[in-house]
Amino acid sequence: MEKKRIVILGGGFGGVYTAMHLEKYLNKDKFEIAIINRENYFVYQPMLAEVMGGSVGILDTVSSLRSLLPKSALYMREVESVDLQKKTITLAPQFCHKPLEIQYDHLVVGLGNVTDFRGATGLHEHALPFKTLADALRIRNHVIETIDAASTETNPELKKRLLTYVIGGGGFSGVEVAAELNDLVKRLAKGFPTIQKEEIRVILVHSKDRLMERELPESLSRYAEKLLKKRGVDIRFGIRLSTATPKGALLSTNEKIVSQTVISTVPSSPNPIVEAMDLPKEKGKLITDAGMQVKDHTDIWAIGDCALIPDLTKEKSFCPPTAQYAVREAKILAYNIQASFTGQQKKEFRFKSLGALGALGHHSAVAELFGRIKLSGIIAWVMWRFIYWMKLPGITRKVKVALSWFLDMLIPIESVQLKLAPSQGIASLHFEKGEEVFHQGDIGDYLYIIVKGHVQVLREQEGEEEVIAELGQGEFFGEMSLLNEKTRAATVRCNDPVDVLAIRKSDFGILIANFSEMKKKIEETEGERKKKTG
Ligand SMILES: Cc1cc2nc3c(=O)[nH]c(=O)nc-3n(C[C@H](O)[C@H](O)[C@H](O)COP(=O)(O)OP(=O)(O)OC[C@H]3O[C@@H](n4cnc5c(N)ncnc54)[C@H](O)[C@@H]3O)c2cc1C
Repeated sequence: MEKKRIVILGGGFGGVYTAMHLEKYLNKDKFEIAIINRENYFVYQPMLAEVMGGSVGILDTVSSLRSLLPKSALYMREVESVDLQKKTITLAPQFCHKPLEIQYDHLVVGLGNVTDFRGATGLHEHALPFKTLADALRIRNHVIETIDAASTETNPELKKRLLTYVIGGGGFSGVEVAAELNDLVKRLAKGFPTIQKEEIRVILVHSKDRLMERELPESLSRYAEKLLKKRGVDIRFGIRLSTATPKGALLSTNEKIVSQTVISTVPSSPNPIVEAMDLPKEKGKLITDAGMQVKDHTDIWAIGDCALIPDLTKEKSFCPPTAQYAVREAKILAYNIQASFTGQQKKEFRFKSLGALGALGHHSAVAELFGRIKLSGIIAWVMWRFIYWMKLPGITRKVKVALSWFLDMLIPIESVQLKLAPSQGIASLHFEKGEEVFHQGDIGDYLYIIVKGHVQVLREQEGEEEVIAELGQGEFFGEMSLLNEKTRAATVRCNDPVDVLAIRKSDFGILIANFSEMKKKIEETEGERKKKTG
């Protein structure tokens, strides 16, 4: 008899815990469990802010999927598409140019949601998202770099930009990031006599009138606000982060904040794979019954952040997108899958939140438990650490994390960068009206191609500015100083909001060395421009 195959898409809280329960429920001679995930590890997201801040080690938050799920087959691949008619999943090619197709009898969708900056100008290009382990590491590396650069910077404007940090969103993630980042930069700055504590600005922008208004009662929100303000975080309420550029953030009040670091914790959107599935959805989430079966489909189930599961403890309500819910949903979902094979009665998911915990850095936290008990300060922090430690999957991970926390009490954490990926060859940049792409006299480091908008090329002479050219979509600039190894002979300023592609000098060199037609065109344009401007 052929084995029945249950395929789980996504190795997050929903997917991993479903597979763990299925491994207990199902006989491996009759059933096969396959889990598909981009990474071969599970990430404990509630601790990502601490990874960014360095108070929790990088590997403390990840667990190997193979050791958590010894009886399941792991496909460490990108899901490309799902064919509901043929009951197949197409996985992206890995080391060859062919995709892989796998068949399912039952499908569990646990792909979570994604960060999406669509609709917000410049955020995609210049804001740092905060959702994955890679995001946490990228922010940490970037912050260490800004402090290092500021310590030797002699231009006061640039130093101010380097030491200003803007965080958008005052929900749990935003508050935790602001608290950890504030601790991190101030701790790092202590090592540099050229940086004064007062020069550092950490600004938290929140559209509502109190922090974590969806997660915590007002008293704890105000406690967190007071504590962060006391530690020097500048909190702005009723304001949104509307645009980011290479030089800073623009707020909904039109205030411009000059900053090299803009972090956005706000937008999360449905996973594109889920969006593309022809299944009943609301706001991009799969509609399920209380047993997590997708409406009108007996072989498809959904769990976690990508599912709209009725909350039976409240009227006309749905389960919130939290890990606390996803791990409990998983137990019922796994039971229901095995019940669909054995003909047993399926169960409904019914769970009342146990409470909320949020870390505020500096060994402090806020907590509300069972809707009644409110805790703050070090007691809440000890409880926060203990609860999250208990929830870490697998005994090995628990032991390693406990040892690492113990050692951290004795040995200070090192603040070194982990530069893993080389800098991007072509970058997309967004500038606002009036901003300068570069200034006359700057070093020539990039060639720019205009994707959208218009720029003015200006030459400064004896304090006077003269417009020497206007350029628009499809045109390029910045080639002169790259070809002649000189500094910029003019300033380029944006006439309106402008999107450009920036090609790094070294990549530009490779391109023109191997692409003779392009070299010819660029040299011709350079010649014409020289004639016009002298
Ligand atoms: C910074 C942060 C802090 C949080 N703190 C808390 C907290 O304190 N308490 C709490 O209860 N909740 C917290 N949450 C929310 C919680 O992490 C989520 O609700 C939970 O992770 C949802 O689980 P999930 O399985 O639905 O999705 P996820 O855990 O996001 O898992 C989805 C998985 O699918 C994979 N995937 C997605 N698309 C593809 C694809 N195309 N191909 C292959 N794999 C794919 C992803 O790589 C990921 O592994 C936090 C979330 C974040 C981002």
